[in-house]
Amino acid sequence: MEHPENSADYKGLQVNSGVASQPTVNPYRVAGRRRVPSLSVNDYVEGIRKGDVSVLGRAVTLIESTADAHQALAQEVIEKCLPYTGNSRRIGITGVPGAGKSTSIDVFGLHVLRQGHKLAVLAIDPSSERTRGSILGDKTRMEKLSQEKDAFIRPSPSAGSLGGVARKTRETIVLCEAAGYDTVFVETVGVGQSETAVHSMVDFFLLIQLAGTGDELQGIKRGIMEMADGIVINKCDGDNIERAKLAAAQFRNALHLFPPTPSKWVPEVLTYSGYYELGIAEVWDMIDRYFEYVRANGYFERKRNEQAKYWMRETIDEQLRASFYHLPEVKALLEQKEIRVLNNEQSSFTAAKDVLDFYFDRIRNNQR
Ligand code: GDP
Repeated sequence: MEHPENSADYKGLQVNSGVASQPTVNPYRVAGRRRVPSLSVNDYVEGIRKGDVSVLGRAVTLIESTADAHQALAQEVIEKCLPYTGNSRRIGITGVPGAGKSTSIDVFGLHVLRQGHKLAVLAIDPSSERTRGSILGDKTRMEKLSQEKDAFIRPSPSAGSLGGVARKTRETIVLCEAAGYDTVFVETVGVGQSETAVHSMVDFFLLIQLAGTGDELQGIKRGIMEMADGIVINKCDGDNIERAKLAAAQFRNALHLFPPTPSKWVPEVLTYSGYYELGIAEVWDMIDRYFEYVRANGYFERKRNEQAKYWMRETIDEQLRASFYHLPEVKALLEQKEIRVLNNEQSSFTAAKDVLDFYFDRIRNNQR
């Protein structure tokens, strides 16, 4: 079979012909920037509840902002949205770059919309920490879905630690649910810690795999496989069908060796083709079966409760760390202590104690 990249319909990266010279200032905006009126907490909540996408987008921007005033406003909006949340299916989707996540999310997403649902696609992209810009969840990667009015697509928040980025995505889920999105996809790249973060905010975790080299199983971390509720082998098309089926069999065998999952659900392994849209309904039937199963045995509720507690603790950890490390005096003292430790003038432990004592004294004095 012809490779898709040679086809006229190929929708990966393509180079378009350029434009001679773009005006640097928009000629229609000579009157200067028009200020967007600011919204009150109630404006935000009402807009979100009505499903107003522009208000929802602005509220997510507040969540992502590092400004204290925005954060405070965002927290109030989240708090008021909470009673309207929880009623969705949260599905994590992971796979290495090139596994076909965006192609698959496009077709899985359309499948979900055709069933009458509203879909939010969010992302956690650890690489965005370095690049300050995220590709995951980008609308341009999900061509069909991005034209659908019932799909809300938002790239990964880009600033801060993985914990901070993940918390923001978790909070965005709350707003999306309040806005009536009853299906939420959280996408991440299958390369490291970010799967754990996604796993801690979703109900179902889908691992997209490729067949190929014959040593598939060695390439992925055992931990990621253990988190998966479903493993799907993509690109089961053309002369790749046999290899995809073989890979599926290998995964099934490997899964037998794992201990039972906490949900007692037995993870399934399926093959499909995102590009040629083959086997999509079967993947979705599996997800439907999972939700029926965990709702019936009480695991759904239990996991959500565990996640709520986890996020409370995570937020505390993150804020404590930020409060400590952002203090200029702590930073200076840390540097001094590092030199002393490296020169063997002080042990790591007493140095740590000195810095912590200094920090707690500061806090106590500030409270007086
Ligand atoms: P991502 O990096 O995981 O988001 O992967 P993409 O969705 O961008 O896909 C990577 C490449 O694989 C692109 O060239 C796709 O056209 C191709 N691709 C995706 N799904 C399939 C599939 O089901 N079959 C085939 N043959 N190619 C696919």
